[in-house]
Amino acid sequence: MKRHTTFFADSVKTINFCNTQMFEVSGSVFELPFEIRPTEGEHDFNKCENCQNNLKELINRLTEKFEGTKDKKGFPFCCTYHVNLLNIKQFDRASFTEVPVMVAHKIIYTSQHIKNNFESDNWYKIITDYMENIICSFGQMPKGCGEALFLSDYFDYTTNLLKGCEDVPPNKKDKLMEYINLYFKPNKKATTDFNVLIGTYEKWLKIFPFEISYFSNIKQHFEKQLPILNGKPEVNMYSGIAKAKMHTKSSLTEALISLTNDLLTGLNGLILYEKGQLTDPLKIKMELIINSRKMKLKQGYYNSSPNEEQRYRNILKEWFKDEKKFIDEISPVMKELSPQLIKTETDKLSLREIALLYYFKNEKITIGNQDTFAEKHQQENAGKKLYSDHYKRIVEDGKEIYQHKYSKKYLENIKSYIADSDTIKKIDSFIKKCN
Ligand SMILES: [Zn+2]
Ligand SMILES: [Zn+2]
Repeated sequence: MKRHTTFFADSVKTINFCNTQMFEVSGSVFELPFEIRPTEGEHDFNKCENCQNNLKELINRLTEKFEGTKDKKGFPFCCTYHVNLLNIKQFDRASFTEVPVMVAHKIIYTSQHIKNNFESDNWYKIITDYMENIICSFGQMPKGCGEALFLSDYFDYTTNLLKGCEDVPPNKKDKLMEYINLYFKPNKKATTDFNVLIGTYEKWLKIFPFEISYFSNIKQHFEKQLPILNGKPEVNMYSGIAKAKMHTKSSLTEALISLTNDLLTGLNGLILYEKGQLTDPLKIKMELIINSRKMKLKQGYYNSSPNEEQRYRNILKEWFKDEKKFIDEISPVMKELSPQLIKTETDKLSLREIALLYYFKNEKITIGNQDTFAEKHQQENAGKKLYSDHYKRIVEDGKEIYQHKYSKKYLENIKSYIADSDTIKKIDSFIKKCN
């Protein structure tokens, strides 16, 4: 396809998004509009009475706008911007006479393309790639000479036809409208969008249950990245131009939904069970109960009852119900876990082990409470040594944790008293330091 571009170059600045061969020039770019071909599909505007009527009506309206009427001047006298084209040497009104018919067709082609493709798996790309190609085909006016001829009309009519198309489901309509609006409202700053994207991603990071042990390894990976680009640079299927698209809020949300699904279906109890790695189901059950409650608490309690007093009553009611459910779920698991965790706390441990255990559990042993800790593990705290000879030394000098003759054995022994996996990891790192 031959494209007519004239550069009014002061200096070449950046590559324009539409075409790698076209440069945005700090001075100006002038590119004439070009034709686009319709795509094929079940719906054929040539055979559709409705489309034919719309096409005729569009041609009439746009031609009238181009030629002008008694009340309204035609192109390029239509507005204070287009009239500046008269100062451009390369401008020739004759190169635009086909534009009304051309744009009318582009509107009908887009509508047909949407009708034929909104049910495809890849509908969003198929439709927006085509639209992007059409938007580029409007060409560009030199700086100060207004928008590409009838581009707003293209957006307006396409939006109207899309709104009126009853077959397309509302959520898909919204996404396409969002795409159109990105072009339509150029005053919407990229930085705002960027912040919206960051916010959207951070919300997901907070909500996703990384605390469940299946996912603890991958949390870091997701914390480090910020998926702003919508996939790898993609080739537009109609123009052949490669370009990385920035996410919109809804395309990012869509991507996060699909990522959530991939993570949940790829890593779960069934898969661990099948691999023989479901070694501690009770612990995981506990994590699931806890994280499901956490998720609700992060989400918070809201109520929109019209009666203000009723609002907080309803919130409290819901909270009570959730709390009761949480306790009902967690109690049997705690009971089952208790032989492993709680009962063993009364087992006999040496004073050094007691000191280490509560050091790792972040429970302070003091001169005042040392006897209580010793008794818990059927130890005599003879000579009041638990604090002074063991706990105090560990706290004051970290080397005491792994430099004692039996450090390794002690650390291994206390591990079974601890449920939390981060603490166990911490103990393991000390075990590695032992001789
Ligand atoms: Zn039709
Ligand atoms: Zn104008």
